[in-house]
Amino acid sequence: MTDAGVAESILTDPEGLTKLIGEVLHADGCSTEEADCVADHLVEASLCGHDSHGVIRLPRYHSWLGTGQIKARQPLRLISSLGSARQFDGGNGLGQWLARAATAQGVALARKEGIGVILLRRAGHIGRVGAYAEQAAEAGCVSLIFVNVGGSRLVAPFGSAQRAGSTAPVTIGVPNAEGDDFILDFATSKVAEGKALLAARGGIDLPDDALMGADGRPTDDPLELYGASLQERLPDPRAGKGALRPFGDHKGSGLMLACELLGGALTGNGTNGPTDHEFGNGMLAVFLEPSRFDDLGMFDGEVASFIDFVRSRTPAQGSDLVLIPGDKERRTRAQRIVRGLPVPRPVLTAILRIARELNLDWDEERLMKRGVAMTGKD
Ligand code: NAD
Repeated sequence: MTDAGVAESILTDPEGLTKLIGEVLHADGCSTEEADCVADHLVEASLCGHDSHGVIRLPRYHSWLGTGQIKARQPLRLISSLGSARQFDGGNGLGQWLARAATAQGVALARKEGIGVILLRRAGHIGRVGAYAEQAAEAGCVSLIFVNVGGSRLVAPFGSAQRAGSTAPVTIGVPNAEGDDFILDFATSKVAEGKALLAARGGIDLPDDALMGADGRPTDDPLELYGASLQERLPDPRAGKGALRPFGDHKGSGLMLACELLGGALTGNGTNGPTDHEFGNGMLAVFLEPSRFDDLGMFDGEVASFIDFVRSRTPAQGSDLVLIPGDKERRTRAQRIVRGLPVPRPVLTAILRIARELNLDWDEERLMKRGVAMTGKD
């Protein structure tokens, strides 16, 4: 976030915020376990620095639960079972709850058989995909995860001025038995949609080629994505005439298209091709138990020494430290746990308004991190 964005943030107590979000989702019809799981996920995403996938999402989830776009209490429905692969339908339930349960099954299969493959379709928004790689790494498993966002045609593939894909995240996790896990987790668009929304609200600046204008020229203007809906309370990224752009030219664009095919076509979630599908995440996840493939007994030592080696390289000009994927999130989390979780005032106001509408007894005072100033830098 820019200083301008952070200056307007309230430093909140993550535990209080988790409780409040859990109560809102419970009042919206979710089971206690489901509500607590999603609340934990949103606060964790914010703690890790991925504000675009954190507590800022609650007003949208609340609205979607109201309109039936996502549904509370949906079970993870088994569609097919083949060897150590399982295919599930999420019935448009709460994505984090479904993806967590599906990951648990994939990891259990990997621990039993060496490999577990999960195909999940029609899950509501599954949020920060890195959370599932962390879940697998905690159980000692490698993960390869390809996700598409059905019903969310936002990204113009390389060479195109028109949308034909989603922000489709790719996530790879490798457990490190002797230290920090490797958790690579990113949207294949140059910026995640939530970051375009933050930019539209003045919270951050976007790279000047993050979007594609309707005229086929790169731009940093979020209006190209949201169009006139930017003025509404819940702007719609499908309303604009421009698009987000993929990262890494033809290579990132190719990964995005692969996610559409694997997370969209293979799972049955549907791609962002010519047919319009309901909004929802599709996820293909492969989990591996490394010790089952480690006849030389080298995996743990090799992972740990490689990670140490990478971190020990001389920083390039303009960078203080060489980090591995996952470090930035761990560092931000450690800092925010101590200093408080910064939440932009308009987001906190929106969450408290929803709580009031649901007759829940919360106010700003009760959410503030004790022992720190009310507003501050992150
Ligand atoms: P990002 O651009 O911040 O990249 C994050 C990745 O880069 C992480 O693995 C991080 O550890 C690594 N990284 C960051 N700085 C680094 C450095 N200096 N050195 C080495 N590695 C570094 O992420 P993003 O593209 O903005 O995505 C944000 C989140 O949005 C992700 O968690 C993603 O899963 C989520 N997302 C979800 C959906 C969905 O539909 N559920 C869609 C798109 C994105």
